[in-house]
Amino acid sequence: MIPESFKQDLLNRVDIVDVVSRYVQLKKGGANYLGLCPFHNEKTPSFTVSPAKQFYHCFGCGAHGNAIGFLMAHAGLGYVEAVKELASSAGMQVPEFQPRSPEDAARRERETDLYALMDSAMEFYRAELKKSPRAIAYLKGRGLTGEIAARFRIGYAPDDWQGLRAAFPQYEDKALVECGLVVQGEEGKRYDRFRDRIMFPILSARGAVIGFGGRVLGDGEPKYLNSPETPLFEKGREVYGLVQARDAVRAAGRALVVEGYMDVVALAQFGIGYAVATLGTATTPVHVAKLLRLADELVFCFDGDAAGRKAAWRALEVSLPLAPDSKPVRFLFLPERDDPDSYVRAHGKDAFERLLREAQTLSGFLLAELRAQSDLATPEGRARFLAAAKPHVQRIAAGGLRLQVVKEVAELARVSQQEAERLLELPGAPIYARQAPARAGAPLPLSLEWKLLARAFARPELALEVDPALLGAELPESQALIELRALVEQAPDPARLTDSVLAELIERAAHREVLSRAQAALNFELRLGADEAQSEFRELLAALERREPEADRALRQRVLKGVATADERRRFEEKMNAAHRNRP
Ligand SMILES: [Zn+2]
Repeated sequence: MIPESFKQDLLNRVDIVDVVSRYVQLKKGGANYLGLCPFHNEKTPSFTVSPAKQFYHCFGCGAHGNAIGFLMAHAGLGYVEAVKELASSAGMQVPEFQPRSPEDAARRERETDLYALMDSAMEFYRAELKKSPRAIAYLKGRGLTGEIAARFRIGYAPDDWQGLRAAFPQYEDKALVECGLVVQGEEGKRYDRFRDRIMFPILSARGAVIGFGGRVLGDGEPKYLNSPETPLFEKGREVYGLVQARDAVRAAGRALVVEGYMDVVALAQFGIGYAVATLGTATTPVHVAKLLRLADELVFCFDGDAAGRKAAWRALEVSLPLAPDSKPVRFLFLPERDDPDSYVRAHGKDAFERLLREAQTLSGFLLAELRAQSDLATPEGRARFLAAAKPHVQRIAAGGLRLQVVKEVAELARVSQQEAERLLELPGAPIYARQAPARAGAPLPLSLEWKLLARAFARPELALEVDPALLGAELPESQALIELRALVEQAPDPARLTDSVLAELIERAAHREVLSRAQAALNFELRLGADEAQSEFRELLAALERREPEADRALRQRVLKGVATADERRRFEEKMNAAHRNRP
């Protein structure tokens, strides 16, 4: 593990502008540098780098971090690798990890860096793969070269109940359970979650190991085993293989979503580098939004069986409100008993890409499924068809596509386009007016909580002055402010929380989107000096204390709307009377 003090020295020594400039062409604009974001497709620059604060932020896609984070996300390096790389470019030597005294270790236990732990586990599994002729033979049998195995950092978990003890002498560390590597049995016995499996590390967009997928070598069950949800790993947000696929997705303009990590790796082996996989969950809006930022076209590939079609339908429903006209979404159903892995191995890249080009369009799939549910030969069947189409057509965000679908629906239902529009209850303008998924660059919310949060980044200790009870509980910025407060409380030395260190901390935070947006707002939009920001912060804090308490406000609204119960109305009147009595 890398000592915190070394990391801070390193961040003070390197210049993020130099680091980023190696990969991105930057232009000076005022105090900051601007360039085309390397993490999403864009024509006008929204990627901003602050030399004074040593962090970057993209107002288009929300990418955010310091120099270490940039190397992880852009070069696909692990945390330790990124630190080593930065250190060598700055001529610094990474110190060897010093074992701590027992008291020290106990005190630091809760601060154990789960990312570093996952990184060490990955290195352990990779080393084990080299020692296992059986695992190597298995991968070779699937047509994988050593190069691809290294690119995806594939490893092997040995057939041993406590194999990880070799990598973690402190096998009792509860952090190993917390990050899902070790299972705590009912009688207190601990054992490795993954045994005798090929290990596929799951990386976050910034390149850190956040989970593993393990596949059996033989016929054991379950065939695939994933890490559980942990503080690092939320299945609905992550896709497997994104870091490795990013360049190929940009070059091909296409992202392909498949079901298994073996599919992703096999496709990459056969020259199709733009595939990613969901992680044993249905497609989520986060998945779709993430991929549409990167690619011009999204293709979902599913098995042709009933389960595959059901999963595809779910992906369609999620895509309707997210895909703009400029970015088509399509569906590929493979022949029975084939998956992308077996298909590409049997038929090769060209044949697979031919299938991709012929994949069903979103509208084609939508209409085919709807038609299959109704008998269009009868008036009742056509009415039923219209009713079934309604919620889906309403959700199509792309104006052009929606119009085309309405016309087709009208024709199939034997009504005019106007009649169809009326029956489908389509408003004049699209209900989803925005073309792209919620962007990080959306207008700033103007709540007191938001204003406080942005200014707190001037001197993070300010967050400690906020009384969480006064914050509007339902606002995401309140939750973010509370999390920032906790981060400051946990910091060994809050005075050392520079913007660059904070940028890294908040990348791992639960409310990372709001927090990174706030940090960027203070530095790139409000541009307040630390003293100015601090005095505004204190004024806002006073305003917060004067504000009507949350519960009272909710009560008043219920009374005004006429939905309050008799008891609520009585309480409200009592409060009003009390307020009158207290008035001078
Ligand atoms: Zn971006």
